[in-house]
Amino acid sequence: MTTTRFAPSPTGYIHVGNLRTALMNFLIARKSGGSFILRIDDTDPQRSREEYVDAIKYDLEWLGLHWDRVERQSLRLERYAEAAQRLRDMGRFYEAFETPTELDLKRKKQLNMGRPPVYDRAALALDAEARDRMRAERGPGVWRFRLDHERIEWSDGILNDISIDAASVSDPVLIRGDGQVLYTLASVVDDTEMGVTHVVRGSDHVTNTATQIQIIRALGGTPPAFAHHSLLTGPQGEALSKRLGTLSLRDLRQQGVQPMALLSLMARLGSADPVELRDDMGALIDGFDITRFGAAPTKFDERDLLPLTAHYLQRQPLDQVADHIEALGVPPEMAADFWAMARDNITTLADLEPWWTLIRDGAEPDIDPEDAAFVAESMALLPPAPFDAQTWQTWTAEVRQATGRKGKALFMPLRKALTGRANGPEMAMLMPLMQVVRARG
Ligand code: GLU
Repeated sequence: MTTTRFAPSPTGYIHVGNLRTALMNFLIARKSGGSFILRIDDTDPQRSREEYVDAIKYDLEWLGLHWDRVERQSLRLERYAEAAQRLRDMGRFYEAFETPTELDLKRKKQLNMGRPPVYDRAALALDAEARDRMRAERGPGVWRFRLDHERIEWSDGILNDISIDAASVSDPVLIRGDGQVLYTLASVVDDTEMGVTHVVRGSDHVTNTATQIQIIRALGGTPPAFAHHSLLTGPQGEALSKRLGTLSLRDLRQQGVQPMALLSLMARLGSADPVELRDDMGALIDGFDITRFGAAPTKFDERDLLPLTAHYLQRQPLDQVADHIEALGVPPEMAADFWAMARDNITTLADLEPWWTLIRDGAEPDIDPEDAAFVAESMALLPPAPFDAQTWQTWTAEVRQATGRKGKALFMPLRKALTGRANGPEMAMLMPLMQVVRARG
């Protein structure tokens, strides 16, 4: 059975970049009737926070990316310790004592000599006595996985054939000096034990994947199928990393972005297929094909989310927005007409409020001085409220007759006098809802 996972570290709010990863893994699982795991990568007790775990779950629920089960790495530490011991026993694990400053110096020297900054494995040369001495002087060392120097190859779901020379990669540190298990070890143990069949993640993980394939094999497992999606950039191709903080899902939610607008964009951005607004998750699942995605960086423009949100809302029947409309204070018997009038004139649901205020309280009239007499004359002809579906037509016909004005010269000053703005819903639809007309003076 297909099993995928989304594996955020709960060290912050998730953003559009994380969403892309979550969504692809979710869609692969759902498309094949498989299982989708939410894995909380919380092996770092200093940086992991419970409030972020809750926020991540909230965001995923909001989007409708429901998981089949939750796993937490902090509850699986003994599994990682057991795997580490197996690696030690088979001679694939070694303790290294260089300080960060020493490593940095080594890297600089290598770069100066035009060589790739790969860890030189000096610690492998230490005998037991030297190791004891180092440990006594410096405390426990880090544990590195000894890579086999071969080419590591896989067929990537997005990047196609990948081949990485293991000699060009440093032996990865899997356990820190203070005993904390690092992501690479925890992740391979989990992927293997949880039966993960497909891993989609950002292309910043390609080198990790190479080392993880070797570790999984060393532990007797079978690597999952990997796919690495490109990273998002801003609209001009600029790095998005610094701005991702402001592109958190909770910010987008606060701006009124609708989940299906966001999901529809992210399920297609960077693929050969056009972005199409989907009404529900089923349509999104049917239309998803990971092989359509390309390796080139993907331009993301948050401004695309608002037209999609507006478009999505226009297509919603009243029952989808009824709670929101009720919360504004619109009486239930007006709700259907209110929604029919307003839906084409909003970008987000927050834009409903001014329309409701206009209907309930009337608008501050906007009257150009040269139209003042015309508006006053028209207002005298306006019948008393309540208005109905014919009122606008009957009234403007009368005004035309009385004043000789027609077309825009007739309609625009009246619209501005009644609504305080130059554009908006059809006046014929708006008028029956209007309870107060302040322009009557
Ligand atoms: N916690 C890791 C991250 O957020 C997971 C990467 C992976 O999918 O393996 O980068």
